[in-house]
Amino acid sequence: MNPEDFIRPTIRKLEAYHVEPHPANVILDANESSYPLPNKMREGLLAIIAGTELNRYPDPDATMLKRVIAKKEGANEKEILLGNGSDEIIQTLIAAVCDPQDRILAPSPTFTMYKKIAQYLSVETVEEPLNDDWDINRHSILGRVDEFQPKIVFIASPNNPTGIVANRDTLATVMNTTPGLVVIDEAYVDYAERSVGLLFRDRPNVVILKTISKIGLAGARLGYMMADERLIEQVNKTRLPYNINSMTQAVAAEVMRNWDQLLPTFEKTKDERTRVFEKLAQLNGITPFPSEANFILMRVENDPAKAFENLLEQGVRVRWFKGNPRLGDCFRVTIGTPAENDLFLTAIEKAL
Ligand code: PMP
Repeated sequence: MNPEDFIRPTIRKLEAYHVEPHPANVILDANESSYPLPNKMREGLLAIIAGTELNRYPDPDATMLKRVIAKKEGANEKEILLGNGSDEIIQTLIAAVCDPQDRILAPSPTFTMYKKIAQYLSVETVEEPLNDDWDINRHSILGRVDEFQPKIVFIASPNNPTGIVANRDTLATVMNTTPGLVVIDEAYVDYAERSVGLLFRDRPNVVILKTISKIGLAGARLGYMMADERLIEQVNKTRLPYNINSMTQAVAAEVMRNWDQLLPTFEKTKDERTRVFEKLAQLNGITPFPSEANFILMRVENDPAKAFENLLEQGVRVRWFKGNPRLGDCFRVTIGTPAENDLFLTAIEKAL
């Protein structure tokens, strides 16, 4: 007997989400923040963690954390749903909205989890190829919405891995035309010049996704969705109980209460992004793409495999989209501290 035979064929065909465990000193492959939380905040958090009653279940509704998030966002607590990372919310949302064989639509390339989660829920992903400058082709996406009638359109803005913020008019036309929901995934919005804010209040088919993974708390695993409270109430039925552990609830609330203390690291990251972009643009054989996120995508003209290996040998880890039809010659580098960025810039120049 092979116990694998118990598994649905759809799952057996999938590959698990895998992160290559390349050892490195300079870790710039996962769009985390390189900055530890401010010292004073860390001390406060240690006391909060020490006081967490781990023998008890967490607050199932995470009431206190939702109150803090609502205040930060100017939203109402009933307009918020929390997830163990925004990945979990993407899963919860697709499970609540789509029947097997329904379709979702997403630009391509984009964050891979929309398609991966859809796949194991037997939901089809229709891909809308981005233009060569990574902008969404408005005419083409509308055609695809019309043809495939997706239950959800996922638009990451800024997009991962291209760094582009979606054009407002394009978003508006998609929202007006699609028969389903439009998810605007603002995972990187703290590094961008604009956000769609609480757009769902004017357009009840809109869902905003956010996460604290990119601003210094990737290890805490917390994402949240903001939407019309009637939608939240329904999607909440597919959320697992106690999905946000007590430590994350307490830590995230404390950090979000003191959000202002993080703002300098966002500004520093944006300044560094400009500096790294300008340096990369001067290198022969590299074409960086403008970005409003905490990373830069770049095309590597000659032998990206060799350049990638060489970077690793120098202790620098970036993301290489090996084998991807449109990004096989591209690296994505996270903007780190100035010292890390210098190490990366020196290493890539040698690696070319
Ligand atoms: N959305 C986008 C666009 C992302 O790039 C990521 C992280 N790679 C996520 C969502 C998931 O973030 P998390 O689950 O850590 O909140």
